[in-house]
Amino acid sequence: MVVARDYKSFTEVRDGLKGTIGFVPTMGALHEGHLSLIRRAREENDHVIVSIFVNPTQFLEGEDLDKYPRREEADRKICELAGVDLLYMPTTDQIYEEDELCIGAPKIRGYILEGAKRPGHFDGMLQVVMKLLNLSRADRAYFGKKDAQQLALIEQMVRNYFMKTEIVPCEIVRDADGLALSSRNLYLSDEERRRALSLSRALKKAGKLIQGGERKSEVIRSVMTGVLEPEVTKLEYVAIVNRKFQPLEEVVPGETIILVAAWVGKTRLIDNLWV
Ligand code: AMP
Repeated sequence: MVVARDYKSFTEVRDGLKGTIGFVPTMGALHEGHLSLIRRAREENDHVIVSIFVNPTQFLEGEDLDKYPRREEADRKICELAGVDLLYMPTTDQIYEEDELCIGAPKIRGYILEGAKRPGHFDGMLQVVMKLLNLSRADRAYFGKKDAQQLALIEQMVRNYFMKTEIVPCEIVRDADGLALSSRNLYLSDEERRRALSLSRALKKAGKLIQGGERKSEVIRSVMTGVLEPEVTKLEYVAIVNRKFQPLEEVVPGETIILVAAWVGKTRLIDNLWV
């Protein structure tokens, strides 16, 4: 595995990789969720590129940019063991210059739910993902369904800008007790972790209701709220939308995503269920 830290050395190694490229962009503090993407990329391509870059433009003022977990050495070993060919860990100046040309998230889909709670987050996310997709010139790029709205916006960007990379959605990886893996879980105390389980529990309950024939979003949302409110510090939203992120009054199996965002202590968590 080659570790590159600047554009020039990254591009030199990238140019030498013949055959298909699978790419997994991350912000590091790698866990089994990231690894599942890397393994899939390994299976489906001749070479795998991973990037680790805590992208400042997708963090809002007052968010956790400075304290976001950084575990370079461990991450590098994980990538090496997973058979990654090229690991890109650029410094910020290798990605951005002053007075950047920016693309923006769509005005509606980019500013609801996560985009409403974190306005501008998706502009920064799309900006860096476009750069990384162009840099890697990957045949396929792997993204987790855990960040469902992010995934939908990246798919839209690739469509709207006629980009060539195939976007591959990957299943959410959970701990045995149901908690969706996230680098931010490292912030949780034992007690907070226990309370954080209410997110997956509420989603599971929603899944059971739907299996039992319930379709009304309002009923499902209120049952979920009942599970979440006693546990979380602040419930930001429970939303039931279609694959285009339009709100649904009734669940349509095969076309629905149920999303939840909540604060547990000082940690903001998201989770979702594709129905
Ligand atoms: P991050 O490092 O948080 O930016 O995540 C990098 C990629 O890993 C994104 O495509 C995420 O959606 C994906 N990811 C994060 N957590 C999980 C998980 N628990 N299961 C599957 N994919 C995940």
